[in-house]
Amino acid sequence: MMEKSREIILEGIILRKVPFRETSIILDIFINKLGVIPVMAKGIRKEKSKNAGITEILNELELVLYKNPSSDWYIYKSAALTRAHLFEVDFKTGVLMQAAVEIYRQLIIPREDAEKLYELFLKYLQFIPQVKKNGIAIFWRFLLRLFRLIGIEFNTSACVNCGNEEVFAAYFPQKHGFICKKCFRPVHANLVFEISGEQAELFSNLNHIGNMLDKLQISKSTIQQINKILLIHLSEHFHKTFYLKSIELY
Ligand SMILES: [Zn+2]
Repeated sequence: MMEKSREIILEGIILRKVPFRETSIILDIFINKLGVIPVMAKGIRKEKSKNAGITEILNELELVLYKNPSSDWYIYKSAALTRAHLFEVDFKTGVLMQAAVEIYRQLIIPREDAEKLYELFLKYLQFIPQVKKNGIAIFWRFLLRLFRLIGIEFNTSACVNCGNEEVFAAYFPQKHGFICKKCFRPVHANLVFEISGEQAELFSNLNHIGNMLDKLQISKSTIQQINKILLIHLSEHFHKTFYLKSIELY
C-alpha cells in the first residue's frame, strides 16, 4: 500500500534526455500544471521492449512515476505514448521544434505559469508541421505569445519613446521595445540595434503573421537580426544570456 500511494500519473513532454551510467537515462520532462521535473529512468536502455523508443525528445506521454518525498527526483515506472512530435517531420520543422525546446529549457517556469505555458507549447508543436513556408515567423510569434504569458510583453506596435504607431528605426534594449524613425537621434546609435525597413515591417506584423506566410521573403540576415532581438528581450528581463543553437541550422 505504501508503494502504491506514491505512484503518480502525469501528462508531460520530454525536453531533454541524458544517458546515465550503463543502462539508465535522466530526463527533463515538462509536466502539465507542474513545470519541468527531473526523472530518473533506471535500466531503461537495457530493455529491448517497446519501451525503448518511448523516451525520445518531444514525446508527449502519459507517465507513471514514483516520487520520493525526501528528494526532488522522480523515478520512471512506465509511460504510454500520446504523440511523438518529432516523428517523421522534415528537417526545418524539427529545428523549429527544437528551438522552442531550447527556450523552455532555459526558462525557469513557475508552477502557476506551467499550465498556460504547456498549452502554448503543445499548440506550437501541433501547428508548426502544418506550416509550409516561413515557419521561422511562427517561431517568432510563439515567442511573442510566450513573452505575454510570462508578463514580459514585447510591444511590437508602438514606439517606446512617443507611443505612436510609427515605422520603427531600431530596437532599444534598455526600454524593452522599439524606437520609431521620428524619435531616433544619432545619440541613440550606440544604445540601440538599428533595423531595416523589412525587419521593422515584420516586427509590426508578427502578431498576425499567420495570414502572410506565403507572401513573405525573409532574408538570412533578417532571420539572424530578429532572433537576436527576441533573445535580447528575454535576456534583459531574466538577467541571464539566452541562446539558440538549433536555429542556426534553419
Ligand atoms: Zn517615436
